[in-house]
Amino acid sequence: MSSIVMLKQRTVKSLIRATGVGLHSGAKVTMTLRPAAPDTGIVFRRVDLPSPVGLRADPFLVGDTRLASCLERDGARVGTVEHLMSALAGLGVDNCYVDVDAPEVPIMDGSAATFVFLIRSAGIEQQDAPKKFVRVTKPVEVKDGDKWARLDPYDGFRLTFSIVFQHPVMQKSGTSVTVDFADDVYVKDVAPARTFGFMQEVESLQLMGLALGGSLDNAIVMDEYRVLNQDGLRLPDEFVRHKLLDAVGDLYLLGHPLLAAFSAHKSGHALNNLLLRALLADQSAWETVTFADDQMVPPRVARLFDLQPA
Ligand SMILES: [Zn+2]
Repeated sequence: MSSIVMLKQRTVKSLIRATGVGLHSGAKVTMTLRPAAPDTGIVFRRVDLPSPVGLRADPFLVGDTRLASCLERDGARVGTVEHLMSALAGLGVDNCYVDVDAPEVPIMDGSAATFVFLIRSAGIEQQDAPKKFVRVTKPVEVKDGDKWARLDPYDGFRLTFSIVFQHPVMQKSGTSVTVDFADDVYVKDVAPARTFGFMQEVESLQLMGLALGGSLDNAIVMDEYRVLNQDGLRLPDEFVRHKLLDAVGDLYLLGHPLLAAFSAHKSGHALNNLLLRALLADQSAWETVTFADDQMVPPRVARLFDLQPA
């Protein structure tokens, strides 16, 4: 019934403004999401610079991947884009301007839940243009030591992620998770998972001028034995689900939603980005597809976005 509608592009219905701190700079950031015309993509704009530089979601603009994914062009940078990109991917938003007045997207609560809440409150609008997917047509894999990430052909969007950490809390929590967006719901199953860090690590990062905005309000923080946040975890396997949330955001830097099965072991922002570059480098491994005729839509694709009521 709604498959014709759901395979159209989407933008935000009205302007959304949020203020928070940058995870790494610790500075206050104001972010404004604005509606954008079909085929604009997700475009970040540094509105504090003398002439605003636009940075479109593009794997080849990803520079620094220490702890977060950062877009860089012509001397301008916007860091920590992955949680917002994840929320936009999860809600099926294709086109949006993201204005920030600092070099970083605000961290909010360390998950994608606040972004999801703000975007859904403002509303999501269907546009009169078919949604463009990148369909993976053959396997692509990248490795770095014992870490790896790969994409396989799949008529839908499924992610499997596993992690290994020598920490008592993390070993007790789930270390592997699979989410298939034909069955699982981004808003409930992925968005609430927060980023995490270790107390000792936070101290050394702050000496390097990183994670200056990090606190118990925007991350799960652990000492050697336990979680320091008073309310504990939001989900029993929150750590690995956050890695999956990051992957959804990093993969959306492709500029279009993927039709593929993603699987990864110990991957992170750098390897997720290498995977996209490896995919794009092999013209025979992907194609751009639209579904103008609802009869042609594979069932798993038809269910990708109808579980996320706008
Ligand atoms: Zn993250």
